[in-house]
Amino acid sequence: MKKSALYFFSLCLCLSSCTAETVRQEHSSGSSAPVSGPARSPGEETPHPSEPTPEAEEAIREECVLKGWRICIDPGHQAAENAEMEFCAPWNEERKAKCTSGARGNFTGTDEYVLNLSIAQKIREKLSSLGAEVYMTREIHAVDLSNRERAEAANRFGADITLRIHCNSAETETVEGIELYVRGEGDGTPEYRKRSEDDFQKAESLIQFLCAETGAVSRGVFRSDAYTGINWCQNTCIIVECGFLSNEREDRLLNTEAYQERLAEGIKNYFVSSALVSSDKNISGL
Ligand SMILES: [Zn+2]
Repeated sequence: MKKSALYFFSLCLCLSSCTAETVRQEHSSGSSAPVSGPARSPGEETPHPSEPTPEAEEAIREECVLKGWRICIDPGHQAAENAEMEFCAPWNEERKAKCTSGARGNFTGTDEYVLNLSIAQKIREKLSSLGAEVYMTREIHAVDLSNRERAEAANRFGADITLRIHCNSAETETVEGIELYVRGEGDGTPEYRKRSEDDFQKAESLIQFLCAETGAVSRGVFRSDAYTGINWCQNTCIIVECGFLSNEREDRLLNTEAYQERLAEGIKNYFVSSALVSSDKNISGL
Protein backbone atom coordinates (compact mmCIF):
# COMPACT_ATOMS: atom_id res chain seq x y z
CA MET A 1 0.00 0.00 0.00
CA LYS A 2 2.75 2.37 0.92
CA LYS A 3 4.52 1.77 -2.37
CA SER A 4 1.38 2.37 -4.38
CA ALA A 5 0.69 5.58 -2.46
CA LEU A 6 4.20 6.80 -3.18
CA TYR A 7 3.81 5.79 -6.79
CA PHE A 8 0.59 7.80 -7.05
CA PHE A 9 2.26 10.79 -5.39
CA SER A 10 5.17 10.61 -7.83
CA LEU A 11 2.75 10.34 -10.73
CA CYS A 12 0.91 13.46 -9.55
CA LEU A 13 4.17 15.34 -9.22
CA CYS A 14 5.23 14.30 -12.68
CA LEU A 15 1.92 15.18 -14.23
CA SER A 16 1.78 18.59 -12.58
CA SER A 17 5.35 19.52 -13.44
CA CYS A 18 4.95 18.41 -17.02
CA THR A 19 1.74 20.37 -17.35
CA ALA A 20 3.56 23.48 -16.13
CA GLU A 21 6.30 22.88 -18.66
CA THR A 22 3.77 22.49 -21.44
CA VAL A 23 2.09 25.74 -20.46
CA ARG A 24 5.40 27.58 -20.48
CA GLN A 25 6.16 26.22 -23.93
CA GLU A 26 2.76 27.24 -25.24
CA HIS A 27 3.15 30.77 -23.88
CA SER A 28 6.62 31.13 -25.29
CA SER A 29 5.34 30.34 -28.77
CA GLY A 30 4.05 33.92 -28.95
CA SER A 31 0.75 32.96 -30.52
CA SER A 32 -2.53 33.64 -28.76
CA ALA A 33 -4.75 32.07 -31.40
CA PRO A 34 -5.54 28.39 -31.38
CA VAL A 35 -3.46 26.56 -33.93
CA SER A 36 -6.22 24.17 -34.95
CA GLY A 37 -9.74 23.05 -34.12
CA PRO A 38 -13.18 24.33 -35.04
CA ALA A 39 -13.85 28.07 -34.78
CA ARG A 40 -16.21 29.11 -31.96
CA SER A 41 -18.54 32.04 -32.04
CA PRO A 42 -18.13 34.72 -29.32
CA GLY A 43 -19.81 33.78 -26.06
CA GLU A 44 -19.83 30.14 -26.84
CA GLU A 45 -18.83 28.15 -23.79
CA THR A 46 -15.29 26.80 -23.82
CA PRO A 47 -15.52 23.02 -23.75
CA HIS A 48 -13.92 21.24 -20.84
CA PRO A 49 -10.73 19.53 -21.85
CA SER A 50 -11.31 15.82 -22.00
CA GLU A 51 -9.66 13.59 -19.41
CA PRO A 52 -6.30 12.28 -20.57
CA THR A 53 -6.40 8.67 -21.59
CA PRO A 54 -4.38 6.17 -19.50
CA GLU A 55 -2.02 5.86 -22.47
CA ALA A 56 -1.45 9.62 -22.53
CA GLU A 57 -0.90 9.71 -18.77
CA GLU A 58 1.62 6.90 -19.08
CA ALA A 59 3.45 8.76 -21.86
CA ILE A 60 3.61 11.95 -19.78
CA ARG A 61 4.75 10.07 -16.72
CA GLU A 62 7.54 8.34 -18.61
CA GLU A 63 8.61 11.56 -20.26
CA CYS A 64 9.01 13.40 -16.99
CA VAL A 65 9.90 10.79 -14.42
CA LEU A 66 13.40 12.17 -13.83
CA LYS A 67 12.45 15.84 -13.91
CA GLY A 68 14.29 17.67 -11.15
CA TRP A 69 17.21 15.25 -11.02
CA ARG A 70 20.70 16.63 -11.62
CA ILE A 71 23.05 13.87 -12.68
CA CYS A 72 26.74 14.22 -13.47
CA ILE A 73 28.33 11.66 -15.81
CA ASP A 74 32.13 11.54 -15.82
CA PRO A 75 33.58 9.50 -18.70
CA GLY A 76 36.87 8.31 -17.18
CA HIS A 77 40.33 9.23 -18.52
CA GLN A 78 41.14 11.21 -21.68
CA ALA A 79 43.36 11.00 -24.78
CA ALA A 80 46.55 12.11 -23.01
CA GLU A 81 47.42 11.25 -19.44
CA ASN A 82 48.55 13.97 -17.02
CA ALA A 83 51.20 12.70 -14.62
CA GLU A 84 51.31 15.87 -12.56
CA MET A 85 50.31 15.25 -8.97
CA GLU A 86 47.29 16.48 -7.02
CA PHE A 87 45.95 15.89 -3.51
CA CYS A 88 43.99 12.64 -3.42
CA ALA A 89 41.63 13.80 -0.65
CA PRO A 90 40.76 16.88 1.38
CA TRP A 91 41.74 15.16 4.65
CA ASN A 92 45.40 14.19 4.07
CA GLU A 93 48.57 15.08 2.16
CA GLU A 94 48.67 12.04 -0.12
CA ARG A 95 49.10 12.84 -3.81
CA LYS A 96 48.18 10.96 -6.98
CA ALA A 97 48.55 11.57 -10.72
CA LYS A 98 45.98 14.01 -12.09
CA CYS A 99 44.75 11.63 -14.80
CA THR A 100 46.11 8.22 -15.72
CA SER A 101 45.98 6.70 -19.20
CA GLY A 102 43.42 4.00 -18.39
CA ALA A 103 43.19 0.46 -19.72
CA ARG A 104 43.22 -0.85 -23.29
CA GLY A 105 41.37 -3.80 -24.82
CA ASN A 106 43.66 -6.82 -24.84
CA PHE A 107 41.84 -8.21 -27.86
CA THR A 108 40.36 -5.19 -29.65
CA GLY A 109 43.07 -2.64 -28.84
CA THR A 110 40.42 -0.01 -28.06
CA ASP A 111 41.43 2.56 -25.46
CA GLU A 112 39.29 2.68 -22.34
CA TYR A 113 38.69 6.44 -22.61
CA VAL A 114 37.01 5.90 -26.00
CA LEU A 115 34.58 3.30 -24.60
CA ASN A 116 33.91 5.35 -21.46
CA LEU A 117 32.73 8.36 -23.49
CA SER A 118 30.65 6.26 -25.85
CA ILE A 119 28.85 4.56 -22.94
CA ALA A 120 28.45 7.88 -21.09
CA GLN A 121 26.81 9.50 -24.12
CA LYS A 122 24.24 6.72 -24.27
CA ILE A 123 23.50 7.13 -20.55
CA ARG A 124 23.14 10.89 -21.01
CA GLU A 125 20.70 10.43 -23.87
CA LYS A 126 18.47 8.05 -21.93
CA LEU A 127 18.42 10.11 -18.71
CA SER A 128 17.92 13.42 -20.53
CA SER A 129 14.98 12.01 -22.47
CA LEU A 130 13.26 11.32 -19.13
CA GLY A 131 13.68 14.91 -17.93
CA ALA A 132 16.92 14.72 -15.94
CA GLU A 133 19.47 17.50 -16.19
CA VAL A 134 22.70 15.77 -17.13
CA TYR A 135 26.15 17.29 -16.98
CA MET A 136 29.06 15.59 -18.77
CA THR A 137 32.57 16.39 -17.52
CA ARG A 138 33.85 15.85 -21.05
CA GLU A 139 32.33 15.49 -24.52
CA ILE A 140 35.58 14.89 -26.42
CA HIS A 141 38.80 12.97 -25.84
CA ALA A 142 41.21 15.92 -26.18
CA VAL A 143 40.74 17.45 -22.73
CA ASP A 144 43.05 17.98 -19.77
CA LEU A 145 40.90 17.33 -16.72
CA SER A 146 42.24 16.01 -13.44
CA ASN A 147 40.15 13.72 -11.28
CA ARG A 148 39.82 16.46 -8.67
CA GLU A 149 38.68 18.93 -11.32
CA ARG A 150 36.04 16.45 -12.49
CA ALA A 151 34.71 16.09 -8.95
CA GLU A 152 34.68 19.84 -8.44
CA ALA A 153 32.81 20.31 -11.72
CA ALA A 154 30.13 17.95 -10.41
CA ASN A 155 29.98 19.94 -7.16
CA ARG A 156 29.55 23.23 -9.03
CA PHE A 157 26.79 21.68 -11.12
CA GLY A 158 24.99 20.76 -7.91
CA ALA A 159 24.68 17.11 -8.85
CA ASP A 160 22.46 14.80 -6.81
CA ILE A 161 24.63 11.93 -7.96
CA THR A 162 27.79 11.48 -10.01
CA LEU A 163 28.53 8.37 -12.04
CA ARG A 164 32.13 7.88 -13.10
CA ILE A 165 32.17 5.53 -16.10
CA HIS A 166 35.17 3.20 -16.46
CA CYS A 167 36.22 -0.17 -17.84
CA ASN A 168 38.39 -2.57 -15.88
CA SER A 169 41.47 -4.66 -16.49
CA ALA A 170 43.09 -7.55 -14.63
CA GLU A 171 46.18 -9.74 -14.86
CA THR A 172 44.05 -12.86 -15.16
CA GLU A 173 42.13 -13.20 -18.40
CA THR A 174 39.21 -15.09 -16.88
CA VAL A 175 38.22 -12.28 -14.50
CA GLU A 176 34.95 -10.69 -15.67
CA GLY A 177 31.93 -8.73 -14.52
CA ILE A 178 30.74 -5.39 -13.25
CA GLU A 179 31.95 -3.84 -10.01
CA LEU A 180 31.17 -0.52 -8.37
CA TYR A 181 33.16 1.68 -5.99
CA VAL A 182 31.89 4.19 -3.44
CA ARG A 183 33.54 6.30 -0.75
CA GLY A 184 35.21 4.60 2.23
CA GLU A 185 36.17 5.79 5.70
CA GLY A 186 37.15 9.27 4.53
CA ASP A 187 37.93 11.71 7.33
CA GLY A 188 36.62 9.22 9.90
CA THR A 189 33.69 11.36 11.07
CA PRO A 190 30.26 9.82 11.70
CA GLU A 191 28.87 12.12 9.00
CA TYR A 192 31.27 10.73 6.43
CA ARG A 193 30.53 7.16 7.50
CA LYS A 194 26.83 7.85 7.03
CA ARG A 195 27.47 9.19 3.51
CA SER A 196 29.52 6.08 2.75
CA GLU A 197 26.69 3.84 3.93
CA ASP A 198 24.06 5.76 1.93
CA ASP A 199 26.17 5.66 -1.23
CA PHE A 200 26.84 1.97 -0.70
CA GLN A 201 23.12 1.21 -0.57
CA LYS A 202 22.47 3.13 -3.76
CA ALA A 203 25.31 1.30 -5.50
CA GLU A 204 23.95 -2.06 -4.28
CA SER A 205 20.68 -1.24 -5.99
CA LEU A 206 22.38 0.11 -9.13
CA ILE A 207 24.51 -2.98 -9.69
CA GLN A 208 21.42 -5.20 -9.59
CA PHE A 209 19.80 -3.20 -12.38
CA LEU A 210 23.03 -3.19 -14.39
CA CYS A 211 23.54 -6.95 -14.14
CA ALA A 212 19.86 -7.73 -14.79
CA GLU A 213 19.96 -5.75 -18.02
CA THR A 214 23.37 -6.89 -19.30
CA GLY A 215 23.56 -10.42 -17.92
CA ALA A 216 27.02 -9.60 -16.59
CA VAL A 217 28.47 -11.16 -13.45
CA SER A 218 28.08 -8.96 -10.37
CA ARG A 219 31.40 -8.58 -8.61
CA GLY A 220 29.82 -6.39 -5.98
CA VAL A 221 30.21 -2.93 -4.45
CA PHE A 222 33.44 -1.87 -2.75
CA ARG A 223 34.28 1.00 -0.44
CA SER A 224 37.55 2.82 -1.08
CA ASP A 225 39.45 5.96 -0.08
CA ALA A 226 41.84 5.56 -3.03
CA TYR A 227 39.91 7.52 -5.66
CA THR A 228 40.54 11.27 -5.96
CA GLY A 229 37.37 11.71 -8.00
CA ILE A 230 35.24 10.25 -5.21
CA ASN A 231 37.07 11.90 -2.31
CA TRP A 232 36.57 15.46 -3.61
CA CYS A 233 32.97 14.83 -4.69
CA GLN A 234 30.38 16.31 -2.33
CA ASN A 235 27.46 14.32 -3.70
CA THR A 236 26.84 10.60 -4.07
CA CYS A 237 29.64 9.34 -6.27
CA ILE A 238 29.78 5.86 -7.80
CA ILE A 239 32.50 4.47 -10.03
CA VAL A 240 30.94 2.07 -12.52
CA GLU A 241 33.49 -0.44 -13.83
CA CYS A 242 31.51 -1.71 -16.82
CA GLY A 243 33.55 -4.83 -17.54
CA PHE A 244 37.05 -6.20 -18.10
CA LEU A 245 39.05 -5.28 -21.19
CA SER A 246 41.43 -8.09 -20.24
CA ASN A 247 38.64 -10.65 -20.79
CA GLU A 248 38.07 -11.49 -24.45
CA ARG A 249 34.29 -11.81 -24.29
CA GLU A 250 33.80 -8.58 -22.35
CA ASP A 251 36.37 -6.65 -24.39
CA ARG A 252 34.48 -7.55 -27.56
CA LEU A 253 31.06 -6.91 -25.99
CA LEU A 254 32.07 -3.50 -24.62
CA ASN A 255 33.08 -2.53 -28.15
CA THR A 256 29.53 -3.06 -29.46
CA GLU A 257 26.85 -0.39 -29.56
CA ALA A 258 24.29 -2.98 -28.44
CA TYR A 259 26.10 -3.83 -25.19
CA GLN A 260 26.78 -0.17 -24.46
CA GLU A 261 23.04 0.44 -24.88
CA ARG A 262 22.29 -2.37 -22.40
CA LEU A 263 24.61 -0.78 -19.83
CA ALA A 264 22.91 2.59 -20.32
CA GLU A 265 19.48 0.95 -20.10
CA GLY A 266 20.41 -0.70 -16.79
CA ILE A 267 21.44 2.64 -15.35
CA LYS A 268 18.26 4.26 -16.65
CA ASN A 269 16.15 1.52 -15.06
CA TYR A 270 17.80 2.18 -11.69
CA PHE A 271 16.96 5.89 -11.83
CA VAL A 272 13.38 5.29 -12.99
CA SER A 273 12.80 2.81 -10.16
CA SER A 274 14.28 5.20 -7.60
CA ALA A 275 12.15 8.06 -8.88
CA LEU A 276 8.96 5.98 -8.77
CA VAL A 277 9.57 4.88 -5.19
CA SER A 278 10.05 8.42 -4.01
CA SER A 279 10.71 11.93 -5.25
CA ASP A 280 13.30 12.12 -2.46
CA LYS A 281 16.58 11.55 -4.29
CA ASN A 282 18.27 10.39 -1.09
CA ILE A 283 16.35 7.14 -1.13
CA SER A 284 18.38 4.30 -2.51
CA GLY A 285 15.71 2.76 -4.71
CA LEU A 286 13.91 -0.52 -4.59
ZN1 LIG B 1 39.53 3.63 -15.78
